Amino acid sequence: MAQLDTRAKLAILADAAKYDASCASSGTKKRDSAGGKGIGSTEGMGICHAYAPDGRCISLLKILLTNSCIFDCHYCINRKSSNVRRARFTVAEVVHLTLSFYRRNYIEGLFLSSGIIRTPDYTMEQIVAVARALREEHDFRGYIHLKTIPDADPELVRQAGLFADRVSINVELPTEPGLRRLAPEKSAAGIEKAMGTMKSAIEDGHDARRRFRSAPSFAPAGQSTQMIVGADSANDGEIITRASTLYDRFGLRRVYYSAFSPIPDASAILPLKRPPLMREHRLYQSDWLMRFYGFAPGEVAAAAGPTGMLPLDIDPKLAWALRFRDRFPVDVNRAPREALLRVPGLGLKAVDAILASRRWRRLALGDIARLTVSIAKVRPFLIASDWRPTALTDRADLAARMRPKVEQMELWG
Ligand code: SF4
Repeated sequence: MAQLDTRAKLAILADAAKYDASCASSGTKKRDSAGGKGIGSTEGMGICHAYAPDGRCISLLKILLTNSCIFDCHYCINRKSSNVRRARFTVAEVVHLTLSFYRRNYIEGLFLSSGIIRTPDYTMEQIVAVARALREEHDFRGYIHLKTIPDADPELVRQAGLFADRVSINVELPTEPGLRRLAPEKSAAGIEKAMGTMKSAIEDGHDARRRFRSAPSFAPAGQSTQMIVGADSANDGEIITRASTLYDRFGLRRVYYSAFSPIPDASAILPLKRPPLMREHRLYQSDWLMRFYGFAPGEVAAAAGPTGMLPLDIDPKLAWALRFRDRFPVDVNRAPREALLRVPGLGLKAVDAILASRRWRRLALGDIARLTVSIAKVRPFLIASDWRPTALTDRADLAARMRPKVEQMELWG
């Protein structure tokens, strides 16, 4: 590998890391350096931004330790057979960069992943060494997210949890055949075993903290994972079901969905085109329905219909409501919270506001209009003191009326 300066390595290794979407910094505990103790905070704003390929804003120094890898996953730009320029940071370089960027208020923390160097254990040791140096030698209190290597020694993975706020292990593909085909050196069983070990370690850490205030915190922001969407033939129904199983079995904080991006010198077994970014967005909305709106995975999958694919032009909650019209209209003055949460266009805040207001008075359609972006979307599905949709809910053309209008683009606009 040619000798590169830190700036050149940063250009290569930050670019190589942009394909990983699983680095939102939500959910950790508050920690700061107020009073001159240590350096860093998990609460800060006003930082520079890194962007995932689809434009999401990520406020972390997001880099790989190296983009050299002994594995050959077909969808990965860093795979062994890829013809890209390689670089590798030392542990000291990553520590120095993180601290310098933090001091300049460019970042709120570090997201560190790596290609596999020599062995999974060796790679994991290097990743842990960065986090250990930041925490123990520099008293760094900012956010750290470490990507862990599934086949590494469980003790090394446990050490990652001692220093990181969040740890993640990517499941990569939604189905086992997909993983076998596109990442033949990885095994679904190995990935799940590592997730299970991490889940137990996180639970033990919480238990210890409950009993002894002095017990060290262990991955307080939990574990997350990422699934690549559109690189294999898995449909949205399968992806949603897989995500739900992962949430249940491993207590994940988040499943991230990353639309497969075609890469330079792509392997011939990959699709030539990326899936529409809207597909990724619809999967995030479905995920939200399962986690916050009380939808069972089967219900979200049912919104997808017989093809197993969620419609792209309307959101999954509206798609579900249109398929299951017998559940509507819902009376805003009487229905329980769970039923209100099913109404398209009513978010969590709107539902809570309805529940609070109706204790004092009956709500009219105008009251609901003030709580939602589009009363036209909500109207067919609810009853208010001055409104009944009568036949509107059952109209054969309701789905067509709810779909956004297709507009002719102006040629010279
Ligand atoms: S192990 Fe990770 S870095 Fe290596 S080829 Fe596979 S996805 Fe890429």
